[in-house]
Amino acid sequence: MANRIPRVPVREQDPAVRATNFEEVCYGYNREEAMLEASRCLHCKNPRCVTACPVNIRIPDFIKALTDGDEAGAAAIIAEDSSLPSICGRVCPQETQCEGSCILGIKGEPVAIGKLERYVGDWSMAHPGKPVHIERNGHKVAVIGSGPSGLACASDLAKMGYEVKIFEALHEVGGVLVYGIPEFRLPKEAVVAREIEAVKRLGVEIETDVIAGRTVTIDSLMDEEGYEAIFIGSGAGLPRFMGIEGENLNGVFSANEFLTRANLMKAYDKEYDTPIYAGHRAVVVGGGNVAMDAVRTAKRLGAEAIIVYRRSEAELPARAEEVHHAKEEGIEFRMLTNPTRILGDEQGRVRGISCVEMTLGEPDESGRRAPIVKPGSDFEIDCDVVIMALGTSPNPLIASTTEGLETNRRGCIVADADGATSREGVFAGGDAVTGAATVILAMGAGRKAAAAIDRYIKAKTTPKKLDI
Ligand SMILES: Cc1cc2nc3c(=O)[nH]c(=O)nc-3n(C[C@H](O)[C@H](O)[C@H](O)COP(=O)(O)OP(=O)(O)OC[C@H]3O[C@@H](n4cnc5c(N)ncnc54)[C@H](O)[C@@H]3O)c2cc1C
Repeated sequence: MANRIPRVPVREQDPAVRATNFEEVCYGYNREEAMLEASRCLHCKNPRCVTACPVNIRIPDFIKALTDGDEAGAAAIIAEDSSLPSICGRVCPQETQCEGSCILGIKGEPVAIGKLERYVGDWSMAHPGKPVHIERNGHKVAVIGSGPSGLACASDLAKMGYEVKIFEALHEVGGVLVYGIPEFRLPKEAVVAREIEAVKRLGVEIETDVIAGRTVTIDSLMDEEGYEAIFIGSGAGLPRFMGIEGENLNGVFSANEFLTRANLMKAYDKEYDTPIYAGHRAVVVGGGNVAMDAVRTAKRLGAEAIIVYRRSEAELPARAEEVHHAKEEGIEFRMLTNPTRILGDEQGRVRGISCVEMTLGEPDESGRRAPIVKPGSDFEIDCDVVIMALGTSPNPLIASTTEGLETNRRGCIVADADGATSREGVFAGGDAVTGAATVILAMGAGRKAAAAIDRYIKAKTTPKKLDI
């Protein structure tokens, strides 16, 4: 019986070794392992995994193709719904999505859908196939931001024949995939750069170092440069702080700055001049993926690294796999702990962090149990670096320079399910609309917006039949 086969373990770098390097933690499946794992799928009549996938990938069908030894077929099935399988196979929170709904998970271990997706994605990158010629339709669309939402939107539009240009503020392409998620989870050259190459091969032009709202505006792109529609996928890169005393001391970073220095500017590499300071003892405040990435990066840079989180382990928003890996690498977790003040020395440098213990009360509006301060529980943690990983919100620059573009009270662009905004011809998706979320949701939003942009431009440019 297929379901008697235990889940095929995935090979990983030894925790003690990997805690000192930036190479990828997980090696993924080889062909034999992937085939064996694929054979565990029960091919349910009503596959709950498909419903639980934010972009509804036909999971049992691609797994069936894999068991038949047909990687190309599996890749084609995934490509119907996902343009970034190697990336999503590595970073999607499968445990709460597809794998979390797998029927095998009720009594045992779910099918390793993420690792199988990664295997197929990596296979496709190694077998890119012949470039296909796409006839251009003469219509121009601009995309702001080169994260997963922008890349997905641009590649779908390019496949439909549009002339697409991405404008990216930074000097590198990929958004959070390059500046946020560390190399040890998502290799930049081997994976991200190759997915971006595939987008370029479709004819998408990319211009870096262009800040929408400064270098160009939505109006100038539409009125002066002839773009008929615009997709805004500018993400949510504005870090939040706690507003506590001491946040301006030397040695306090936002996780965004810390990770950008480490990842995008390769501060971890001795060949590069980018300065970075992880200290001897780094405290990372927060419990999401960003906090896990920051704390594991600090550890790799040589610091004793600690997570401080105000709820308990059950409420940690980070992916279970990342928490597990962090623990294996020797990260210390201080749960039910909340900072109240960052302590400085006479030179204005961090020397510690003052905290209180917390207990959990009734669920709050987020559905999670609310943290409550334990009276008289103040204590201090010695440290010389504090990294704030408390979430991010969209940068207001584009909204504040675009007439008629509605945002909500969290600063997110208001858009309908297809990405249409309050401004005609302007579409938006990904973190810029939802606030900080996930790669697959951003990718899905970019693809939906591409379809909506196609409908919008066709409706505008197709001559209406006269009713005579
Ligand atoms: C450290 C970290 C770890 C994460 N880990 C995971 C994970 O494990 N799994 C997961 O699913 N999700 C994870 N996420 C979340 C995920 O990466 C995001 O939800 C996703 O990247 C959002 O995609 P996006 O296209 O909306 O925006 P982004 O990826 O943020 O890309 C936006 C792009 O727009 C550019 N831009 C911004 N403003 C302008 C402007 N004015 N003009 C031109 N360009 C502009 C930015 O430079 C950026 O390149 C993580 C996020 C972070 C920060």
